[in-house]
Amino acid sequence: MAETNKIPNPEVKCLVNTCTHWLPGNLCGAGNIDILNEEVGKMSQNLEQTMCKTFEERRGLANLIGSADNVNWVGFAEELVGIGRRLNPTVTCIVDTCKYYHEGDLCNVDAIEITGENAKECQATNCATFEYSGRQSKNEKQQQRQEKGEKF
Ligand code: SF4
Ligand code: SF4
Repeated sequence: MAETNKIPNPEVKCLVNTCTHWLPGNLCGAGNIDILNEEVGKMSQNLEQTMCKTFEERRGLANLIGSADNVNWVGFAEELVGIGRRLNPTVTCIVDTCKYYHEGDLCNVDAIEITGENAKECQATNCATFEYSGRQSKNEKQQQRQEKGEKF
């Protein structure tokens, strides 16, 4: 029964080539990414209303070093030496109007795609895999706390 106990986490393909975490092959080198609703209090009904909050605009080496505390270094090393484990972040998602949302702010789908080529801010990125479930959100308060800088 190991399969049912597995914490869901999708494979992440990312097209946001201007992000400091982005790596050739459309990989994300972050240790974890946070997927949020773009506007506080306006819960997503389409994919343009979602965003990858972990996006940081790449501004040369200083920016890369600045993001070093959120890097999946083990996955990065394994990707380089070809052990076969894909470089992939964990996904924390509070977009509970998505049909793939899973209790505990998890994402229960095999793979997601983050779009927003040439983005200069996180609002220009999207989780393109979002699909509206038609359900009411229970996460608005949590997002408001997160926007105020409280722990996510
Ligand atoms: S935009 Fe998000 S998913 Fe894409 S590389 Fe940056 S942190 Fe990773
Ligand atoms: S597919 Fe849905 S649940 Fe998964 S990260 Fe994207 S918005 Fe969140």
